[in-house]
Amino acid sequence: MTGQHPAEIDTSRPHPARMYDWYLGGKDNYPVDEAMGRQMLALDPRVPVMARVNRAFMQRATRWLAGHGVRQFLDIGTGIPTEPNLHQVAQGIVPDARVVYCDNDPIVLAHAAALLRGTDEGVTEYLQADVREPDAILEGARKILDFDEPIALSLIALLHFVPDEDGAHELVGRLLAALPSGSHLVVTHATADFTPEESRAATEKLRAAGVTLALRSREEFTRFFDGLDLVDPGVRVPHEWHPELGDPVTGQDDGVIPGYGAVARKP
Ligand code: SAH
Repeated sequence: MTGQHPAEIDTSRPHPARMYDWYLGGKDNYPVDEAMGRQMLALDPRVPVMARVNRAFMQRATRWLAGHGVRQFLDIGTGIPTEPNLHQVAQGIVPDARVVYCDNDPIVLAHAAALLRGTDEGVTEYLQADVREPDAILEGARKILDFDEPIALSLIALLHFVPDEDGAHELVGRLLAALPSGSHLVVTHATADFTPEESRAATEKLRAAGVTLALRSREEFTRFFDGLDLVDPGVRVPHEWHPELGDPVTGQDDGVIPGYGAVARKP
């Protein structure tokens, strides 16, 4: 990113949203983000493939949800806009879909305009808020979404930044409790299950730079869906979840993608 940046953007340490942007080949990142991104790549050269696989999962899951009648979306940990964004996928199928985006990083706010350009019939809104303050998110979302109708809550590549000390599972439970029957939970999450050594090294490097990474096992991931009905095919490595709903990502089959993805319905 060139030129001036708003004072609240902290360029002294890496930020997940900006590292993710760097992995995806974007321009909304700073030298600290690229430097840490390169360290992650040195540990596991497939990190950029993981980011693209994750983005592609979001698109397929949104297609599936919109195709199953979901018209309202609450996406937390949205990230820097990358086309197509969730609202573009959803409104491409359901033009009057209502979408609330939320992220805690000021760089996402700085680019939120791209998240707000939707269909005339639909609504998109952006909230700057932290998932650790679910009441604030729900209060903001209630102004846009009808909480008597199903809502898809998506937490995509977000929860591995929320440690157990911050009550990750409880936070998801509090958000879900506010949603009516027929709502859905959509989650992808990084794991150390397949690459324990690289994962440990990555966690340590990020912690030293001030970024918390809370990798979770398959069992810990699956617990986010307690009380919900997992949609077929259940918990999968992200690119193996309904691959027919999108195009494959180049390189996705060249080695392990150390993450999980799933969608579930609130009964
Ligand atoms: N969901 C997007 C971006 C994933 S990167 C995608 O899949 O493409 C993770 C995002 O979560 C970043 O944008 C980061 O700023 C955001 N994030 C991290 N911790 C957060 C928190 N506590 N509350 C809200 N957002 C958070």
